[in-house]
Amino acid sequence: MNINLQYDNEKNTEIVDTFVKQYVKWHKREKYPAMTSIDVDNVLDLQRRLEKYNIRKEMEFASDKTHKRALKNFTIIDKGDYQSDVSCKDYKITETYFVNNIQKIKTTRWQNFYVTITRLINHNAKGVAECPNCGAVSEVTDLLNGCKNCGTRFIVEDLYPIITNFYTINTIAGGEDFVKKTQYAAMAGNSLFLTTFMFLLNGLLGTLSPSHEDFLFYWVECFMVGIVGGSVCGLLLWITGMILYQLFGSVRGVFLFSSNVKAKSNLPKLMRQFDRNFSYEYFLGKIYNLMKLMIFSDDYTNLAVYDGRPMQNQFKDIIDVNYDSTVKLNSFNIKGAYCYVDITVYTKVLKFNCGNIVKENEDFRMVVCKNIYATTNAGFSVKKVSCKSCGGSFDATREHNCPYCGTPYHLGNDDWVVIDFRKE
Ligand SMILES: [Zn+2]
Ligand SMILES: [Zn+2]
Repeated sequence: MNINLQYDNEKNTEIVDTFVKQYVKWHKREKYPAMTSIDVDNVLDLQRRLEKYNIRKEMEFASDKTHKRALKNFTIIDKGDYQSDVSCKDYKITETYFVNNIQKIKTTRWQNFYVTITRLINHNAKGVAECPNCGAVSEVTDLLNGCKNCGTRFIVEDLYPIITNFYTINTIAGGEDFVKKTQYAAMAGNSLFLTTFMFLLNGLLGTLSPSHEDFLFYWVECFMVGIVGGSVCGLLLWITGMILYQLFGSVRGVFLFSSNVKAKSNLPKLMRQFDRNFSYEYFLGKIYNLMKLMIFSDDYTNLAVYDGRPMQNQFKDIIDVNYDSTVKLNSFNIKGAYCYVDITVYTKVLKFNCGNIVKENEDFRMVVCKNIYATTNAGFSVKKVSCKSCGGSFDATREHNCPYCGTPYHLGNDDWVVIDFRKE
């Protein structure tokens, strides 16, 4: 049975706002956000690394009139079973970190808050959800017919919509426009300044008056030096300014705009060859989520999202990560039934260092892989996967091999999986 879904921006805005409130409460250790999927809860759990160091994080979200609505929405429909909207709303986010209850770092900045809202369209869809009553991870169809664990029956509205992912991106003040405008302003302003200066100087020296034997040459010189020299100097000044701006932390990735644009336009082209529902924003959410799992999972041995050569977690001192507005696509390959995407992610991380919290720019290089025949399935969860060999289902966050027949489980056949992860 299929039901018709009304999709509206107002509704999504409401959901995003509610989720934000729950997310803020979660930081105050009140309770888990009620509307998140089990996989999101799993990632939230990992960030409890903070507690190990006695660190507390508080978050505040503020909005204003112009940012009241979920401004952007990207809709992804998979096979017709689920519909996911990646909704983006801008918030002024304040993050405060305390070590042993002493405030250490406080930052406030505008960020794009992306939230993936998933709705069930087909009631017979394959998929996994948490029983709202007993918490058992169950098939959605079971929950609709009566939970196998506690017997409670649910209607779709009890279970969906849910938040299946979320991430924030540091915005560049004013965006690309700002970069271009300041550049032109620097060049034009400097030309004007130098031209005026040249004329004043030469005027004083008397070289511009028709009585001077080379007066034409000086006129041309004033214009040439003023306009050409002025713009070149202006550009150099602008670049220096941008480098300083970048060094002092407010904006990084200004120079990487072009590579970001390439990733944003090239990846969908490449991916849509075999996944016509491919969405860049949805994919980016997956990437950021995988990165969090790689940074915050202390042990990779049984980690389903990592299918590379055995290695140790090198990032145990990182307590939080913020994404800059850029990713770089290094390469894209298809080998057999798998595609491999090699990307660089630019971030600002917070590290715990001898009782203090330090902020650092960090670039991560990550190779992810997925079976090209695996269709996007918003109902999929690593908490309950099915064995390709015997069909048994198990929690892949705890076990790498099927507990019934021993066949190793490869997440890459169902979803994106990490093959390599390191600092660049
Ligand atoms: Zn139950
Ligand atoms: Zn098996």
